[in-house]
Amino acid sequence: MSVVQHLINGELVSKGGRTAEVFNPSIGQSTRKVELASRATIQDAIDSAKAAFPAWRNTPPAKRAQVMFRFKQLLEQNEARIAQLISEEHGKTLEDAAGELKRGIENVEFACAAPELLKGEYSRNVGPNIDAWSDFQPLGVVAGITPFNFPAMVPLWMYPLAIVCGNAFILKPSERDPSSTLYIAQLLHEAGLPKGILNVVHGDKEAVDALIEAPEVKALSFVGSTPIAEYIYAEGTKRGKRVQALGGAKNHAVLMPDAELDNAVSALMGAAYGSCGERCMAISVAVCVGDQVADALIAKLEPQIKALKIGAGTSCGLDMGPLVTAAARDKVVGYIDDGLAAGAQLVVDGRGLRVSGNEDGYFVGGTLFDRVTPDMRIYKEEIFGPVLCVVRVKSLEEAMQLINDHEYGNGTCIFTRDGEAARLFCDEIEVGMVGVNVPLPVPVSYHSFGGWKRSLFGDLHAYGPDGVRFYTRRKAITQRWPQRKSHEASQFAFPSL
Ligand code: NAD
Repeated sequence: MSVVQHLINGELVSKGGRTAEVFNPSIGQSTRKVELASRATIQDAIDSAKAAFPAWRNTPPAKRAQVMFRFKQLLEQNEARIAQLISEEHGKTLEDAAGELKRGIENVEFACAAPELLKGEYSRNVGPNIDAWSDFQPLGVVAGITPFNFPAMVPLWMYPLAIVCGNAFILKPSERDPSSTLYIAQLLHEAGLPKGILNVVHGDKEAVDALIEAPEVKALSFVGSTPIAEYIYAEGTKRGKRVQALGGAKNHAVLMPDAELDNAVSALMGAAYGSCGERCMAISVAVCVGDQVADALIAKLEPQIKALKIGAGTSCGLDMGPLVTAAARDKVVGYIDDGLAAGAQLVVDGRGLRVSGNEDGYFVGGTLFDRVTPDMRIYKEEIFGPVLCVVRVKSLEEAMQLINDHEYGNGTCIFTRDGEAARLFCDEIEVGMVGVNVPLPVPVSYHSFGGWKRSLFGDLHAYGPDGVRFYTRRKAITQRWPQRKSHEASQFAFPSL
């Protein structure tokens, strides 16, 4: 069985020690092993990054951007191979895997604008013969810790921008589906990245703690579940690091009585069941304003959910693959049991799904609950599976109160034809990313991505303009050159015009 290695100082390396199994969730079998880094391995990666940083920070931004141009081309040329690797270990369909890669490539395209993004600000004559400018300088060695659900896209939110800003990066991807992440990092080296500027170390808590504790690591970007996000934010900031930690979600879609229902249903099907619900922007709650909307929605959703094409992610033309692990499947089934016991009405039950030819895969079918109430666990907690909960309310105000009271605030959307309602929703909703008749409002790469409340710990969102700020330090320089014919007298009062 092959072992997924670390990529340190531009070389694939095996360090021995602990390993974890990597599964193909469509067949329910372990297919690879992955090395789990010890503290010593993390230190090797840090040493390599530290040594490579000075030359890279002094490489002109336009040269750094050229590496990203070549990287983008290599990613496009290798799309099929990357999608296959993602699907084999994550379980999502090939089309979905290619989609996440495309959204990742957008971030590489944004990074290609480094010379423009880093050019700073200049003011001439801020005082007599004095000019001032501000500069954006790299932090040094920075690290990223990423989740299983987007093994290509989420790392690409981080390191292309960090690296093009002049930093050296250490990536600790999810140990559940590490192969596509590693392969993509190899492509960046093929594109001409100097050794040591991107190191990939696989691992678990031991590796993450070593990154948090290392004084050489100046900033941490994290994407994953809320308890770990909160832990990394607390431990990282305690040590004076800059931290952005993106956490979990419970995303509501509000359906107004005037919504164009057929379009809303199509949008909800993809947003709730695409990638088996394993997206931080997945819609997991449909809030229907009025019983009429709820009844009509359920009547349209039920047959479509029952008709979902589910199978091995690597087969073509499917809507949904399996969940990522047996534990993830059991957790989702546990939530469905819990919802039933709490009194929610199970309209479509995805438990016990058998996929012919893939009987051991970790499948759960599309599931729909009606009459879910805010006190139920299936409403309060992130299920991260193909389960949609319908909550019935009487007004837009009640729907908004429900969303604003929820602990998470990642994404939300409203389906309506009423501009006034949509505008109120956009203004008053306590959520970081909002869609109007758009179910998955994931910002494009030149805006930034981030939730509110317990979906993000830190001040700056991921990628885009916030990403540039996160991976750089501002330096303000004020400069005067001596004038040949004038003598500057001492000035004891605080300098002012
Ligand atoms: P996770 O929190 O289990 O793991 C994320 C990363 O943290 C992995 O690299 C993992 O190895 C590491 N980790 C796990 N346990 C740790 C511990 N005790 N100490 C230190 N590090 C630890 O998340 P996951 O299951 O891989 O991903 C799914 C979660 O990620 C969901 O909650 C989802 O909402 C969230 N997510 C959020 C966003 C966002 O942008 N807000 C995007 C994608 C996923």
